[in-house]
Amino acid sequence: MLLTLLVTLMLVLQAPGSTLQPDPPMRCAACDAWNEPLPPFKVFGNTYFVGTGGLSSVLITSDSGHILLDGGLTQSAALIDANIRQLGFDPADIRLIAASHEHYDHVGGIAALQRLSGAEVVHSEAGARALRRGLPNDDDPQIAFGREANAFPAVSSVRAVADGEVVRVGPLAITAHYTPGHTPGSTSWSWRSCEGDRCVDIVYADSLNPVSSDDFRFSGGNGRPGIEDSFRASIAKVASLPCDIVISVHPGFTNLTQKLAARAAGASPDPFIDGGCGQYAADAARRLDERLARERR
Ligand SMILES: [Zn+2]
Repeated sequence: MLLTLLVTLMLVLQAPGSTLQPDPPMRCAACDAWNEPLPPFKVFGNTYFVGTGGLSSVLITSDSGHILLDGGLTQSAALIDANIRQLGFDPADIRLIAASHEHYDHVGGIAALQRLSGAEVVHSEAGARALRRGLPNDDDPQIAFGREANAFPAVSSVRAVADGEVVRVGPLAITAHYTPGHTPGSTSWSWRSCEGDRCVDIVYADSLNPVSSDDFRFSGGNGRPGIEDSFRASIAKVASLPCDIVISVHPGFTNLTQKLAARAAGASPDPFIDGGCGQYAADAARRLDERLARERR
């Protein structure tokens, strides 16, 4: 009893923000598989993968503070925090957290990571609206799954950025690319990382997967406009980005574990430097075509 009191008192007296205070874990059919731990690793230069086996999170580092992309599920935040520390960086030095899309499996951990670091959070206009309310937008293809399935911890201090806007932390600069389709606020991010004289273009590609609740039609219907054209434009946009390295928000869509294994086996050139955005976009276009064909049957 005394020990419990003492531990509680120590937690209360701790400086705020120095230790991650996670939100309650989320429950979903895929959550445990998505949240499998993955050792963090350098992607290239100052870019590191700090996410889990099924949910990407990327750290871009500088002496003037870091940028973090995505926070996974609520229960991913502790793994991301530990991964960043394992690499020798301090999560308190994160100045900016950028989000890909307003679904619980990518932004669930952001509120806790923001409390830990005091970082500003940036997202697209539509994404920022959803982050502030802790729920996807009313025109989200998955909103009919309901509040319980869709909700995530609301995020304070979210700044909406424009399509094409460059966001900076010290010497770091990342560009927002609106890629709506999977959600109204879907955003892909790009930046350059260097190792010595060699610099590469890196794309953090948002989901381009046409997933929805049963009532939603990407071709329009049931009282809602179709989003086929904007979805196709998003796919074309990702295909056209300068892209030496691509990391998708679910790492499996760009074969992250296979690339890691090939790298560990000594593959040369580096399997991550494969200009993979075109392939990622082609896969997405095929899935959208299949989905639209089903809708028209
Ligand atoms: Zn999603």
